[in-house]
Amino acid sequence: MAYTFRFIPYFLVLIGVFCSAVALASEQPLHHQLKVKLLPATSEIQVEDRIHIPEHMLSQTTATRLEFSLHAALSVAVNKSDANVTQLTDPMANHARLVPLKRYAVTLPVGQTSFLLTYNGQIHHAVRDPSLEYARSFSYSPGLIAEEGVFLASSTAWYPRFAEDMVSFHLDVRLPAGWDGVSQGKLLQEQSTATIRHIVWEEKHPQDDIYLVAGRYQRYQQTTGPVAAYVYLRSADEALAQQYLDATERYIAMYNQLIGPYPYAKFALVENFWETGYGMPSFTLLGPRVVRFPFILHTSYPHEILHNYWGNGVFVDYRKGNWSEGLTAYLADHLVSEREGKGVEYRRDVLQKYRDFVDKEKDFPISQFTSRHSPSTEAIGYGKTMMMFHMLRQTLGDEEFTQVLRAFYQQYQFQQATFDDLLITFNAQADQDFSTFFQQWVYQSGAPNLVLESAQATPKEQGYQLTAVIKQTQSGAPYLLNVPIAVHLAEESAARQMQIKIDQAIHQITMDFPTRPVQIDIDPQFDVFRRLDSREIPSALSQGFGAENPLLILPTDVSEELMQAYQTLATYWQKTQTGSLEVVRDDQLQSLPANRTIWILGWQNKFSQQLMNSLAEQGVAKTAEGLQLNGEHWQQNKHAVVLTARQPADPDQTLLWVAADQSAAITALARKLPHYRKYSYLVFEGNELNNVHKGQWSITHSPLTQRITQTDDTDFISDHVGTLSPRRALAK
Ligand SMILES: [Zn+2]
Repeated sequence: MAYTFRFIPYFLVLIGVFCSAVALASEQPLHHQLKVKLLPATSEIQVEDRIHIPEHMLSQTTATRLEFSLHAALSVAVNKSDANVTQLTDPMANHARLVPLKRYAVTLPVGQTSFLLTYNGQIHHAVRDPSLEYARSFSYSPGLIAEEGVFLASSTAWYPRFAEDMVSFHLDVRLPAGWDGVSQGKLLQEQSTATIRHIVWEEKHPQDDIYLVAGRYQRYQQTTGPVAAYVYLRSADEALAQQYLDATERYIAMYNQLIGPYPYAKFALVENFWETGYGMPSFTLLGPRVVRFPFILHTSYPHEILHNYWGNGVFVDYRKGNWSEGLTAYLADHLVSEREGKGVEYRRDVLQKYRDFVDKEKDFPISQFTSRHSPSTEAIGYGKTMMMFHMLRQTLGDEEFTQVLRAFYQQYQFQQATFDDLLITFNAQADQDFSTFFQQWVYQSGAPNLVLESAQATPKEQGYQLTAVIKQTQSGAPYLLNVPIAVHLAEESAARQMQIKIDQAIHQITMDFPTRPVQIDIDPQFDVFRRLDSREIPSALSQGFGAENPLLILPTDVSEELMQAYQTLATYWQKTQTGSLEVVRDDQLQSLPANRTIWILGWQNKFSQQLMNSLAEQGVAKTAEGLQLNGEHWQQNKHAVVLTARQPADPDQTLLWVAADQSAAITALARKLPHYRKYSYLVFEGNELNNVHKGQWSITHSPLTQRITQTDDTDFISDHVGTLSPRRALAK
């Protein structure tokens, strides 16, 4: 489970007010020299901003007129400015915005390159609840100054925003004693007196935001090499801090080697006062619970550190699609899995999410992705993009792939980059034309469906000839694909693995082997982004939560209390899940519909046995006192159990059974199960639902694996399966 979100400039994405050109590398960014005083008790901020206008924004012959916007609650002291500043009537005033804005114009005479703006006011946008549907949603505030803490970003409009995305800054902050503050870049100065905490942060490289986060922090630090590691916690915890400091060093060393020098003077873990998982340039802002989840250290944490390269080192031009989440997921989350030998499972989960949550209506090209706000946007913006980079690596090989990424990082550091810039870099560095590749994966929605047919082997004078047909059955033009194939030879312990290029709807394979081929697998390690066949995916909760129009069947033969608890669960899912859930009682149905995804609730549900029957192959059985599962017996009176199975007559549909005999456990299941989407079966203990058993069914009937028909011996039987070679991880 990763709880990470990039904090994106909502202005740009939602409103598109600023239509600026992207700053060129050679150009100086606009520079803010800020003196800030924060008064958390009264939500007040006082600012003096000396704004240095870069040459390319100034007219050399006439006065320069520039417009900027600022939070409407901040009043500008015009008489304190050394330039002519006037407030404009704002044509966008009634437009939906996260914060109210005022627009201003400033006129600078020829030769003047900076001006001073003094302003102050109160900012307090209360933290709002997250959306219920998406388990990964967080509470949100565009900005606030409060006793619990301070969060200011470009979304707050707390500093003047010009029609230029990129800025650099020098930030001098005064806070009450006992407080501390963090921004991007380098901590230049710090000082504490009995009443005041004074800190100075600076970042000279172009940034797409200026953050100011403050709170009553306990700070820890450790420096080896050029990068300082900091941890800011809201309560002292030295052991926890040390884990983060060590992890910071470890991951920065790894990415230095893989991609290039880490771009900032520090990396800080900062604890927020509400639950977030934001990655900012040179720090990450994680909520109090998130910080203390043990798995964060090797899931979200490397991901956030890597965002300093992708997203916060090379910036994203959100108007042209966000490539940074997929690349970060690939080189952090996927790489961590790959190092543990779990790359195949990771990619299968990614493809499964796409299969379970993205139908035609929800699909869109990754060039339109900005940030995730639902399982389907995650499956595309993170999953499909990640797989695109994986396929580029498959095509180029590890060495060349990382070379291209290094070149991309070097060339676009501290600038905004787009998918087109990636294409240009891949073409130039690898000396190949990836235009078709980018066209089909970046600018088109959808995915190929692969089907394997007619695999046969015929003896030749020497050895055997294998023939088979691979079909692309999706609608629309066929994709150009490099498809990995494994062929298992009767006399070899390791399967032969190769890649074939296909670009037609029907592709005939003909290959010669020295000994008898007995099995062929198409894409056995999930290296191609494609729509999985339902038989390649174990049944799992995600199919229940992702279904358009699932049926939910309540048990009748239960106590009033249990009935009430199941009913409440159904109502909760109706409110919080995407599909439109139809709810009935088991006594209202004669038989179980065969062509729908169905939730069957309760040990006592009259249809529960039908689900057991379809899991007989997995050794699942109901007993008088409970359930037999994976060789263990789970007692009905102590355990809550969840099982999933394919609908026997329609493997695209899923049966899901949820059963508990305590109403408190049922209530807890309602909230908890959406977090266990990828599992085929789950067992929980007690009313607090401690998870004691979970897993995915193994796949036995993949249609992309075929035993090969032997034309010389139709009775030939072999159960030989060779081994597949594991892929070396991209970094150690
Ligand atoms: Zn991310």
